[in-house]
Amino acid sequence: MAELLDGVVGNPSGSHHVARRSKRTIEDARDAVAAAVGARPAEVIFTSGGTESDNLAVFGVAAATGGTVVCSAVEHHAVLDPVHALGGETVRVHSDGRLDLADLADRCDATTSLVSVMTANNEVGVIQSISEVAEVVREHAPNAVVHTDAVQAAPWLDLTECTAAADLVTVSAHKLGGPAGIGALVVRDGVPLDPRQIGGGQELERRGGTPSTMLIAGAGAAFGSIEERRVEASDRVRGLRDRLVRGALEIPGVRRTADTDTTRLLPGHAHLCFADVDSEALLFLLDAAGIAASAGSSCASGAVQISHVVEAMGVTNDFARGSVRFTVGKTTTEADIDTVLSVLAPSVDRLRRTDR
Ligand code: PLP
Repeated sequence: MAELLDGVVGNPSGSHHVARRSKRTIEDARDAVAAAVGARPAEVIFTSGGTESDNLAVFGVAAATGGTVVCSAVEHHAVLDPVHALGGETVRVHSDGRLDLADLADRCDATTSLVSVMTANNEVGVIQSISEVAEVVREHAPNAVVHTDAVQAAPWLDLTECTAAADLVTVSAHKLGGPAGIGALVVRDGVPLDPRQIGGGQELERRGGTPSTMLIAGAGAAFGSIEERRVEASDRVRGLRDRLVRGALEIPGVRRTADTDTTRLLPGHAHLCFADVDSEALLFLLDAAGIAASAGSSCASGAVQISHVVEAMGVTNDFARGSVRFTVGKTTTEADIDTVLSVLAPSVDRLRRTDR
């Protein structure tokens, strides 16, 4: 990316040598994304990120087929909002965050054109079985394609396995240490998809606009090194996360939001509910101690609302109000976990005492 910042970057659509150099950079990156997802390079469409890829999948298939769309109730808003905009339906999840496959079957029929279920959830880290989803869809919605948002799964799971049953796969580079503003939608051969952006005919007529060679080079580097970094980091990160969760559960009135087998969770996610605590107040105290955590989604007023994910999992209000997501990453250390645990208990205690 730095090399491309400095020099002359050709428009990859041109035919001269500068253009050809740019095109080669893009095609190398496309090969890297395709290899990471288990697709053919021609099936990879570069987009501006996960949000655009999700929008393109839902709106693009709906426009091409005229059918109805369905997604899980815990999708990222980049899927959920397009599905709602099209009058589509959402499928329930169980209290452990896993998809209710019987409800999925009930909502599928011959008019369904797309079913979207994320590979792993961004808030609670719950992993879905896309092969089980695809099996239900093939049986009950024979005309539908399966889309999966694998943005959160990409750093931790082997996408060539866990997204193999999907017809469309969303990925984004910034979850892998690449730049923000670049992602891809994998569209397997034969999937009906109308473009959302037309003019220019780029990306095999599926996404018009001059591509950013520099951002795509960054994505290529991120996806090209995905496997070595995943294998190296997963066990260490899982160990740190488990220690954080064990320590937090020693505080009275704390529960894991997704009470599930930890092999069904991404390694870095620790989503916890603190009874009788307001998550916004807790985040404030944590931030003051240098700890960056998050909760739900912020509405325009800045107040934290209970997230649709926590709500869909049926967490009762007393716990849901105090739900907080901690994410352990590749740069997190043992000392960071010690710091969080030393700050957490007194903060919760202080909030509970001032609440009375
Ligand atoms: N989908 C999921 C599951 C995400 O976690 C995110 C972002 O965090 C997105 C989609 C949106 O991706 P982007 O920020 O690249 O638009």
